[in-house]
Amino acid sequence: MKSDIIAALAGNPNSGKTTIFNNLTGTRQHVGNYPGVTIDKKKGYCQHGNKRIEIIDLPGTYSLTAYSVEELVARNFIVDEKPDVVVNIIDSSNLERNLYLTVQLMEMGVPLILVFNMSDEAIARGYEFDTEILSSFFGAPIVRTTGHKSEGMEGILEAIILVAENKISFNSQGVKYGQEIENEIKIIQDLLEKNNKIPGKHGTRWLPVKLLENDKDIRDAVNSPEIDNQIEKSVAHIEKITGESPETSIAAGRYGFISGACQEAVRSTIEIRHTVSDRIDAVLTNRVLGLPVFLGLMYLVFYLTFTLGDPPMGWIEDFFAWLSGAVAGLWPEGSDSLIKSLLTEGIIGGVGGVIVFLPNILLLFLAIAILEDTGYMARAAFIMDRLMHKIGLHGKSFIPMLIGFGCSVPAIMATRTLENRQDRLTTMLVIPLMSCGARLPIYALIIPAFFPQALHGTMLWIMYIIGILLAILSAKLLRKTIFSGESVPFVMELPPYRMPTVKSVFIHMWDRGKLYLKKAGTIILGISILLWVISTFPKLPESEIKQFESEKQMMQEKITDNEEKNKYAASIESRFAEESLRYSIAGRIGSFIEPFLKPIGFDWKIGTALIGAFAAKEVFVAQLGIVHSVGKVEEDSETLREKLKSTYNPLTGFCIMLFCLISTPCMATTAIVVRESGSWKWAMLQLGGLTIMAYIFTFIAFQAGRILGIGI
Ligand code: GDP
Ligand code: MG
Repeated sequence: MKSDIIAALAGNPNSGKTTIFNNLTGTRQHVGNYPGVTIDKKKGYCQHGNKRIEIIDLPGTYSLTAYSVEELVARNFIVDEKPDVVVNIIDSSNLERNLYLTVQLMEMGVPLILVFNMSDEAIARGYEFDTEILSSFFGAPIVRTTGHKSEGMEGILEAIILVAENKISFNSQGVKYGQEIENEIKIIQDLLEKNNKIPGKHGTRWLPVKLLENDKDIRDAVNSPEIDNQIEKSVAHIEKITGESPETSIAAGRYGFISGACQEAVRSTIEIRHTVSDRIDAVLTNRVLGLPVFLGLMYLVFYLTFTLGDPPMGWIEDFFAWLSGAVAGLWPEGSDSLIKSLLTEGIIGGVGGVIVFLPNILLLFLAIAILEDTGYMARAAFIMDRLMHKIGLHGKSFIPMLIGFGCSVPAIMATRTLENRQDRLTTMLVIPLMSCGARLPIYALIIPAFFPQALHGTMLWIMYIIGILLAILSAKLLRKTIFSGESVPFVMELPPYRMPTVKSVFIHMWDRGKLYLKKAGTIILGISILLWVISTFPKLPESEIKQFESEKQMMQEKITDNEEKNKYAASIESRFAEESLRYSIAGRIGSFIEPFLKPIGFDWKIGTALIGAFAAKEVFVAQLGIVHSVGKVEEDSETLREKLKSTYNPLTGFCIMLFCLISTPCMATTAIVVRESGSWKWAMLQLGGLTIMAYIFTFIAFQAGRILGIGI
């Protein structure tokens, strides 16, 4: 008689497989042999409703590598005979150890049922399972049983039928092994697909993972020199970066997944923690201590980033000042050569202004790389998870947002760790609200110009907090509207704590820092030139230039006192610069948008600087210097601050910061969102949404401030 469904029982030795097999099949069983090996193949039948189910008791294994005959037999049966359902019998009083096999079955992409056997023992040991969450993590229904008392057998049969007939499905994220290994998996996967080596019924990940694990059996089966070659390359690459073999990293990844899942969904009423990682976690992910420790660490990271970054920042500043002077020295004094102006003001000024922040950025990335490599970042995400859930995001979104304090570009790339597309898009869209490193120079210019010394720190803190709050609000709003719907629960992998290798920390830091430098060398360079052009051309008509010159001439003759003379000359220079700018394309655009900017307290000069800010936030300060024609007279920002102080009031100062914080993400961000989201749609939504939001908030702040008479 033919069976409707074939179900194979897999599990660790002594998990109760045979007991359950006997319970289910009773006397309808017989023992055969697996071909070629002396391992019993036990087969039996049972009837449930109108379905006849064939059940096979596979040999007990801890893993599915090809190390032992039992493992090979179990694996080959699953691969070759393709049972409709694999029933994984688990000793739930030893859950973490048993789940190692589960993770591998999950990875094979077989239809799976998890049987949490030994429930009596688990209860005696004080374990409580959240089976609903665990089941979504492992992508399989969970049935709780006590084998030797025959409890829960009906549940197994029901689940077998549901899964075999595809009546339930789960959306598990699967185990992720970190960027390095994932990249190699992808490469091998593509190569396998290209060579038609992916068998239909299995998940596409299993083969590449096995190949990276150096599974000889699988390699022989695949039998392709091209793929062998690639594997060798991939293994060498992974070993170079992580300092360990892919096998070790992959095993660690699996344990991390299991550990994270259990941390979230298993409670123990009795303490039986043992490993070092567990002991560290008892403090670091503690419900009470976790958050303060985390906030303390974050404070330390920011503090070190800025204090340690300060001296090299000064050196870079000095270097560019020297370079600018040296280049200017190539021309005779007083020369108004266009090339000189392009080189010193346009290129060196623009690019230098960005590279100055490289030490901060590298230090921040270094700190993040260390936190990631030690395994702490995963804990941080874990700690933030509950808070993040409140705004409809996952704890994992927190890391990209944190990186957003450095630069939105790598932050948006870091959203790749988010499996769920809605989570990922939401995170991506709100990231620019995290005050990035390029906003800092704007705050650093404005705050001392308008606010007393005692308020400096507070104002800076307020700006960051406003950004974070708006990010939270926007995420919540996006979650309620465009991205509504349940978020899939994730397992937060909790890898064991380990000493990071110097090499991998530096590679990770450099990977991100590189992007920033690349931005300075490409986008910013281009923009600096473009901005220089639009604020230089067209030049004032000859007649007006003549007028300024004759005024200068007259002054030279009339005034005798030297100090008076210099002061007067500077004022003419400055008026000349302002007139020239107003006449240029940038000035005209600024004047054109002035009516729209009036209600939020900005004039045409700020308008032109804002155009630069869209190109790259870093450009705002430089451009403000140029439009206030202090850039030409003196490089020192003190002068610019004086100028701003006499032109605007603190309310406008605050509005400038607010607008720059919220408004249009820079071009590089927009470009990366297009690439990472795969469409222009989201990038444009972000661009438009943030600009409108910036306008509305600044409008409210300015009008409210004006009416209440604050800061005028
Ligand atoms: P196998 O190695 O996976 O085939 O495991 P067995 O079915 O041979 O079971 C191993 C031992 O565990 C036997 O002594 C069973 O009686 C016992 N056992 C099976 N299920 C349970 C259970 O749910 N609770 C407890 N306490 N013992 C069980
Ligand atoms: Mg047995």
